[in-house]
Amino acid sequence: MKKKIIAYDRLEQPVFDLLRKDYDVQFFHNIDPEKDDTFLKALQETDGIIGVDFPATNKLLDQAPKLKIISNISVGYNNLNLTELTKRKIMATNTPGILDDTVADMAMGLILSTARRMPELDQYVKKGQWTQSLPAEYYGIDVHHKTLGIIGMGRIGSAIAQRAHHGFQMDILYHSRTRKPDAEKNFQAVYKDLDHLLEQSDFVCLITPLTEETKGMIGKKQFQQMRRSAIFINVSRGQTIVEQDLIEALKNKEILAAGLDVFEEEPTDPHNELLKMSNVVTLPHIGSSTHETELRMSKLAMKNLTAGLNDESPVNLLNKEVLKNQ
Ligand code: NAP
Repeated sequence: MKKKIIAYDRLEQPVFDLLRKDYDVQFFHNIDPEKDDTFLKALQETDGIIGVDFPATNKLLDQAPKLKIISNISVGYNNLNLTELTKRKIMATNTPGILDDTVADMAMGLILSTARRMPELDQYVKKGQWTQSLPAEYYGIDVHHKTLGIIGMGRIGSAIAQRAHHGFQMDILYHSRTRKPDAEKNFQAVYKDLDHLLEQSDFVCLITPLTEETKGMIGKKQFQQMRRSAIFINVSRGQTIVEQDLIEALKNKEILAAGLDVFEEEPTDPHNELLKMSNVVTLPHIGSSTHETELRMSKLAMKNLTAGLNDESPVNLLNKEVLKNQ
């Protein structure tokens, strides 16, 4: 009998088709996992889950007695409690590395479009307001040769620094838990504690994982530390900032503008005040969402899934301790 797989929320079609050759795959999208009877029934039987943001709560895990592996199609794994999964002998995997350039391109896009007010001016042209040369009140600010502060100089942070430094001649400041000699050598990046990074950057870009430590790490105090001319960019996870504090900071003109790919709640409420601010550029969490990268991520996640189901160690195993107990 074929092993049973749940594909959760997102899986590229070619990978879905490949998986179906060897496994019994059920796809679930846009459901409330705790209330959907078909899903809960499938969970009882499933050997593996592949997908995006499966909420691995104890309540759901209790319903999955056969589950061996959760293969995330993302580098972030804040949906997974690794300690709990290890206790239950469930493997967890992610897809690091292969999306760095794609996410970094998007981050630069947010920096540029926020600074140069591109979405706002796109609407200006399309609405027929371009009847004379652009009034100065619509001018943006320069990106090149400015100072970019990167919070989280990991794989994606480094790809952003590479573009910003070598492409836009920006000075790079960074903050991580540890120093990064490669970034210091390759991008002349200068390590700063968080306070100094916030005070000295023209652009502040947040790209840490969401963890207990980083939850709400940028709030009222941190926005007040930024320059009044600063542009804040969040491409990490929505909950790494206190969204209401960002709204207040923008209303009080404590910072100039913001570019956001992620929100405290996703999809964000259409009434979110941020969506009404012309100095805020918003995206629907599209960091890795290109055809090429989504396919590469799905393929890597499939490799991780099938390794786990075949009692091999997946390349991107996050909770290696799980193997000790097998
Ligand atoms: P990574 O290589 O692990 O880098 C994470 C960086 O964050 C590291 O430099 C780490 O510092 C730093 N960090 C962790 N905790 C910190 C803390 N408490 N204070 C300061 N710095 C801290 O991860 P990555 O592959 O670059 O991905 C980073 C995150 O980006 C993901 O976890 C995900 O949430 C997000 N992401 C978003 C999108 C999107 O669509 N918007 C797409 C992909 C990823 P140390 O190295 O010193 O520990």
